[in-house]
Amino acid sequence: MRTKLLVEDYRRIDVRRLARDGFLVPGARRRLHWLSGGEVLGTITVTAGSTFVDIIGEGGAAGVGETVTLTESDCNLGGTRPWWLCPSCDRRCALIYIDIDKALRCRECLRAVYLVSTLGRSDRRQDRVEKTRARLHFDASGHAVKPEGMHLKTWLRRWQEHDAARQAVVDEVAAWVDKRMPPQPRRYPRSRPVGGPA
Ligand SMILES: [Zn+2]
Repeated sequence: MRTKLLVEDYRRIDVRRLARDGFLVPGARRRLHWLSGGEVLGTITVTAGSTFVDIIGEGGAAGVGETVTLTESDCNLGGTRPWWLCPSCDRRCALIYIDIDKALRCRECLRAVYLVSTLGRSDRRQDRVEKTRARLHFDASGHAVKPEGMHLKTWLRRWQEHDAARQAVVDEVAAWVDKRMPPQPRRYPRSRPVGGPA
């Protein structure tokens, strides 16, 4: 698995921005370009239906091809705001990312991929998770069984140690991902409509 790509290398598509720019009007068909140093890295064609958007990539985004479902929520001040439903997990999200394998995923799904690919960075913490787990005496079916004669207090302390070790791994990976997830898109240039509504 390639792990050297950083999250800012992912192209991302902001559903709020598409809505604001009129891209979500059913029938609208527009193209988005991602630029770097004046060079087009990839092109995405976005075609809106009433409850979904077809997203097709070309150039650096070739291989992308997915229908993403839209949903909406009420705003406090009236009106509605749109959301993507992540094609991978069905979670509601404002941004979807084009992953290395050209699948579209939400941030949480990307985080899950990173969790797997960065465990090597957390070897010592991961070892501690394994050690504290071993002290909980899991049986073959995955249930932890308190050994006979062990004080409940000892047993609960072992659980706390295991939970803390596991949390340390999650925190480290989350911090690592957050550092690489800038809040604002960097490579989301002004989109220019091509052709107008289909
Ligand atoms: Zn997801």
